[in-house]
Amino acid sequence: MDDLKLFARNDESLYKLVDTVQRFSDAIQMSFGISKCAKLTIKRGKSVQTGSMPIMSGPEIPELETAGLYRYLGFPEGGGIDHAHSKDVVLSEFKMLSYGFGIVDWTVAEITQFDILVRKMMVTSRSLHPRSAVERLYLPHCLGGRGLSNVEDLYRRRVILLAHHLRTSDDALVKMCHLLDVSLPSRKSVCSRADAYVAALSVDIDLTQATADEIKNLVCDRQKVSRWETLKNKPLHGKFINWCGSNPVDLSRSFRWLCEFLHSESESTIFAIQDQVVRTRVYEAKIMNLSVPTLMCRLCSSHEETIQHLMAGCPMLAPTSYIHRHNLVASVIHWHLCHTFGIGEIANNWYSHQPLPVVENASIKMLWDFDIITVSHIPSNRPDLVVFLKETPEKILLIEVSCPADINVLDKENEKITKYQRLAGEMSRTYCQPAVIIPVVFGVSGVVSNNQKRHLEKIPAFTQLTFANLQKAAILGTVNVLNNINLRVV
Ligand SMILES: [Zn+2]
Repeated sequence: MDDLKLFARNDESLYKLVDTVQRFSDAIQMSFGISKCAKLTIKRGKSVQTGSMPIMSGPEIPELETAGLYRYLGFPEGGGIDHAHSKDVVLSEFKMLSYGFGIVDWTVAEITQFDILVRKMMVTSRSLHPRSAVERLYLPHCLGGRGLSNVEDLYRRRVILLAHHLRTSDDALVKMCHLLDVSLPSRKSVCSRADAYVAALSVDIDLTQATADEIKNLVCDRQKVSRWETLKNKPLHGKFINWCGSNPVDLSRSFRWLCEFLHSESESTIFAIQDQVVRTRVYEAKIMNLSVPTLMCRLCSSHEETIQHLMAGCPMLAPTSYIHRHNLVASVIHWHLCHTFGIGEIANNWYSHQPLPVVENASIKMLWDFDIITVSHIPSNRPDLVVFLKETPEKILLIEVSCPADINVLDKENEKITKYQRLAGEMSRTYCQPAVIIPVVFGVSGVVSNNQKRHLEKIPAFTQLTFANLQKAAILGTVNVLNNINLRVV
């Protein structure tokens, strides 16, 4: 604590208080920064001149000029707070915005403008698709959101907490502030506004009984739930979240990639895909009500051009962009195993890794995209990666990678297991060791099923970082697919 405000009835009492502070400061080897100190006298609500304040040792504390301003905790103050000036300062110094909530007389409409301003800046810098769901911007990652702070929510929380402080504090000055506050018209009173905000959130809590932390957590949760409900009730934007809720999707892990560094433009693209607002021909015709020559895909002309088709179902993209995405994900696993078992010269990053068809050392042997020769003919004999673990317990891993449409992740996992069952049985008999099928299935926007973690944990030395890298590879592949198609954004 090195910023202090002393209140006294008259100069004599103030002198005593300054004296006490000086003795205390001397004892802890601190001294007054006289250039930053000021004395202000207020009589009947107006500042008046009564001279500077002498102190025991050193120069006097100068008096604040009439209508002069003093900066306390970042806010210019005089006889009161200069609201207009404070708002101007806050607008230019965004980071200190929340300091004045409940003190500076912001209206909710003014506060909402901050959120709008941020979104406009994000759209301009291509970090937010203009038609994306606004609610998802402010939901936490574990609920499928981008985790941005909402200024209006923050403002309401601060006012509620300030009202709680005014009502429950034992401090004599705070009690006086409370008495003053309840005498104000409801539009200006902190307590009245706080009651209105609590009522709007339908929070069942007694503001005088609960602790500040309990109130903060409850209000925070309620704001989240309210936003989540609004999103779920939206016909187009709510589709993805509603689908995740009614299917075995690991929602929290499906958004693990948000914790890793990824360009904000790529992040925006993935959210636009999930929100289904990418400007495909079907979107233009059915959502934007534009007249389009045909609904069929601009590349293959054989399917309707929906976002799901372009991301994972177009035959024209399968041999190029989809394969590239698939190989990107598979090479993360190859790189991870090379790294773990110290095979050969390994690139520093998974994205510069070029897997060789066969790599081997005393602990492991890996075959990349290799035909497995068996005694009897087996049609599905080419898994993406075959790993022979030579150390005890010896084991063979058949790793199959896929990046299907998000809605197909579970079906794809099951399909991969069924498809390679015969090969696994045959290899198990041939090598006299267990052969395990590991489906690595990440949806085009990173969605994973509830089973994916269990499957991936069978890969040696598997970590959260490996998980995030696999997901990031799938997502970068998808962004690349979309960039190559060259759709209009708005
Ligand atoms: Zn197509």
